[in-house]
Amino acid sequence: MPEPTTTVPSPALPPPRSVVVVGAGLAGAQTVAALRTHGFDGRITLLGAEGVPPYDRPPLSKELLTRPEPVWLSDDLGVDVEALADDVRLAEPAQGLALRPDGAVVTTARGTVEADAVVLAVGSVPVVPPGFASSDLLHTAADAARLRGALRPGLRLVIVGAGWIGAELAGVAAGAGAEVTVLEAADAPLSRQLGPEVGGHLVRWYAEAGVRLRTGAAVAAVDGSGVRLSGGEHVPADLVLTAVGARPASDWLSGTLPLDPRGALVVDADGRVPGHPRAWAVGDVATRAHAVFGTVPGGHWSAALHDPDATVRAMLGVGGGAAHAPYVFSQQLGHDLALLGLPAADSPVVLRDAPGDGPWAALYLDPQETAGGSAGTVATVRAVLLVDSPRDVGGVRRLMARGEPLRLDLARATDPAVRLKDAVAAPA
Ligand SMILES: Cc1cc2nc3c(=O)[nH]c(=O)nc-3n(C[C@H](O)[C@H](O)[C@H](O)COP(=O)(O)OP(=O)(O)OC[C@H]3O[C@@H](n4cnc5c(N)ncnc54)[C@H](O)[C@@H]3O)c2cc1C
Repeated sequence: MPEPTTTVPSPALPPPRSVVVVGAGLAGAQTVAALRTHGFDGRITLLGAEGVPPYDRPPLSKELLTRPEPVWLSDDLGVDVEALADDVRLAEPAQGLALRPDGAVVTTARGTVEADAVVLAVGSVPVVPPGFASSDLLHTAADAARLRGALRPGLRLVIVGAGWIGAELAGVAAGAGAEVTVLEAADAPLSRQLGPEVGGHLVRWYAEAGVRLRTGAAVAAVDGSGVRLSGGEHVPADLVLTAVGARPASDWLSGTLPLDPRGALVVDADGRVPGHPRAWAVGDVATRAHAVFGTVPGGHWSAALHDPDATVRAMLGVGGGAAHAPYVFSQQLGHDLALLGLPAADSPVVLRDAPGDGPWAALYLDPQETAGGSAGTVATVRAVLLVDSPRDVGGVRRLMARGEPLRLDLARATDPAVRLKDAVAAPA
């Protein structure tokens, strides 16, 4: 891990008079909006890389065919960065960063931008394994436009990866008449995100949506006529789309700021880069400390929406602000998913109602409590997955965001007739 180039103590600094926000996506736009909301009347510079105003990414997969234009944040959230910032450069990506005790200097192809503070909101980039360079991706509005133009009935589409985006796209493409095959190296879809047991309950959704799912199918390489599996088999395709995850867009920061093994900037609960009182990070590029959930990796819309407010409050010395907890949503293969909280990799799972045609849920327990044997009657629930129960999302979000671990009476919590809030037990 590279050492920071400049490490300074954290004296009480006056609020900045100028801020450069790097990244014109959701987190960058929300940072600009929060600065103005909290009374900042200094200079704001916004640097972007895509050459278009900030837009929302979740509709790119879910509404690929029904919303051909990007969902602009100026329409969706009312955040018009051109009106809020002094200097908006949407096609001038940052290439370098130098931090000083009193501010930051960002280098671009056209020169430098100096400011009293920098907010890094550069998001993530899709993971492209070696040998996959010829495959398509779905990360930007430009990717979505290309894919929309290519999709047609009968198209043999191979999607590598049954994660959030792969599953969403598979259902949409099959609905448009494409012949869709999803190749997943693990034994179940969403295995890394939801665990193999819960992932196994999603397998049948693929067949029901007209999608062929092959699990345990590791792709070794993509070529002009399809993909080659690690066992040697060739799977033909007219179009191959790789959806095996994303990583922080932080290559240009390596050597300047410490990055974790994923490439994320590890920040405190306010988004402050430790040791650099003038540097902050929000959204997908950051892994953020959370009082209840420990370190929370970026990568999800809700954090990019909410975290900038806390960051700007801390930067300007403004108190208050609402706590929130990790939250991921997805609409895939005709189903609605909401994951509230953060499961541990080895969280034991208990189900609330049997997976079937109606709503069900999974409770992810704290593995440390259950390490010596089975779960007690009261357990700490690190996360709740709600399947096809959108009306319950608000209530469970509130339970997760109380600022303390969620302790549930499991006998009541696993009874679908009992509301989860009525299963809350006293703190340990
Ligand atoms: C297809 C798709 C579907 C998704 N669906 C969901 C969903 O259903 N639920 C959910 O929770 N999350 C979803 N996400 C994730 C969610 O969209 C992201 O978590 C969110 O967009 C993160 O916001 P951000 O501002 O941190 O990053 P981004 O939205 O990636 O914005 C960062 C911006 O910074 C720019 N940038 C990069 N490097 C530089 C640089 N050096 N200088 C200047 N600018 C730079 C990038 O080009 C980009 O425009 C989805 C993502 C995708 C791609």
